[in-house]
Amino acid sequence: MRVAERNYWLTTVEAPSVPVRELPASVDVAVIGAGFTGLSAARTLAKGGARVAVLEAQNVGWGASCRNGGMVLSGLKLGTPTLVKRYGREATKRMYAASLESIDCVEEIVREEGIACDFSRSGHLEVACKEKHFKEFRRGAETIEREFGHKLRIVEKSELTSEIGSAIYYGGMVDEVSAGVNPARYVAGLGCAAAKTGAEIHEKTRVTALERASRYGSNGWKVTTSRGAVLAEDVLVATSVYTSAVTRGLQKKIIPIGSFIIVTEVLSESAARELSPRNRMIYDSKNYLYYYRLTPDRRMLFGGRAAFFPENENTVRQSAAILREGMISVYPQLRGTNVEFVWGGTLDFAFDIMPHAGKMDGIYFSVGYAGHGVAMATLLGKRMAEAILTGRDENPFLGIPFPGAPLGLYNGNPWFLPLAGAWYKLLDWVS
Ligand SMILES: Cc1cc2nc3c(=O)[nH]c(=O)nc-3n(C[C@H](O)[C@H](O)[C@H](O)COP(=O)(O)OP(=O)(O)OC[C@H]3O[C@@H](n4cnc5c(N)ncnc54)[C@H](O)[C@@H]3O)c2cc1C
Repeated sequence: MRVAERNYWLTTVEAPSVPVRELPASVDVAVIGAGFTGLSAARTLAKGGARVAVLEAQNVGWGASCRNGGMVLSGLKLGTPTLVKRYGREATKRMYAASLESIDCVEEIVREEGIACDFSRSGHLEVACKEKHFKEFRRGAETIEREFGHKLRIVEKSELTSEIGSAIYYGGMVDEVSAGVNPARYVAGLGCAAAKTGAEIHEKTRVTALERASRYGSNGWKVTTSRGAVLAEDVLVATSVYTSAVTRGLQKKIIPIGSFIIVTEVLSESAARELSPRNRMIYDSKNYLYYYRLTPDRRMLFGGRAAFFPENENTVRQSAAILREGMISVYPQLRGTNVEFVWGGTLDFAFDIMPHAGKMDGIYFSVGYAGHGVAMATLLGKRMAEAILTGRDENPFLGIPFPGAPLGLYNGNPWFLPLAGAWYKLLDWVS
């Protein structure tokens, strides 16, 4: 199969037109990165009366924010039992509540700003690849209902055809609260909303250095960019997996994990209904997982960690073939269906697979969404903006340990990814 690298979402949206203008000499807040985190923060900051400059090395949404599956999901990457064991019941309760709030947050912004991005509460379906995983679903759903009062629906194997046209799974678990969105339209709309509210967006403006400097006599930052320097009282780093040596301390805590997506030709109404009768956001229970959904124009979008390294010409080509095989193993009905799009992106994982938002060396940051960033980046961007405006940070991930690599064996070059990939494949085999 040969299919040229092309991001389907980008064919559905016009890039927002961002005027090129001089950098301001001074702002209250410099936000680095124009994805969900940076733009959500910029919108809230500007609404709160702050003078904001968003500094983006490429263009609005260029990073993971326009390359993802558009799944607006409840929960975190780690399961609730692991979270409770690590952080205790109360902290886990706040984190889980934040995951539900993050979906409301996206919905509210979409409604308030009138963003045409096909936001729909279609719910998500997690499917079990093994009998054992299905038993874990049951226990997980019971814990979540008992501890957090949130109801998930268990779907027996015998009833699964009402949710998915695949016979390979052992059962499923549905959360009706999750949603789907067209991420490229959403991030473009978020950019327009931030600009309309008063934030200045500067594209093709790469931040190259951050130094402490005085601004009107108070402590601040000199933010040097490829187009000149800006003085800022506060800085928010919203660079996700593209975090560079400009914030070295943060860069060393983020692992870039490649993830890839294929999209088929448009399916007939009856074929689409058979594959996903309730139009769910679907993902399976493996570590090396597949995630998939229908697009609003009825194509199958199928993603996964096909090649473990971040995207380049080779990994994208290999991934197209691997993902097509994967898609056919789930849906043999799609054997004769053409794949029209393939692209790759990079996920930002922290070593503990948790989001982290707070302040490091005097600089605000929010990173580490581990595949849950559509909703969580939107919420944490907003929360970091509120922390800057009020001086009070109340996000539930504040203060949890933020580990780096064991023995400090990582300087931003992820040499261990093939080992990690092999390890997760082994785990999928044995667990
Ligand atoms: C293939 C794929 C599928 C995914 N699927 C889902 C999904 O279905 N659901 C979900 O919730 N999450 C998903 N994710 C994750 C989600 O997309 C990310 O967590 C989210 O987009 C992160 O947003 P962000 O704003 O923090 O970072 P990004 O959108 O990556 O933005 C960071 C920006 O910072 C800029 N930047 C970096 N360094 C500098 C610098 N020095 N100066 C100026 N600018 C700089 C970059 O150019 C970039 O535009 C997926 C990710 C990928 C790659």
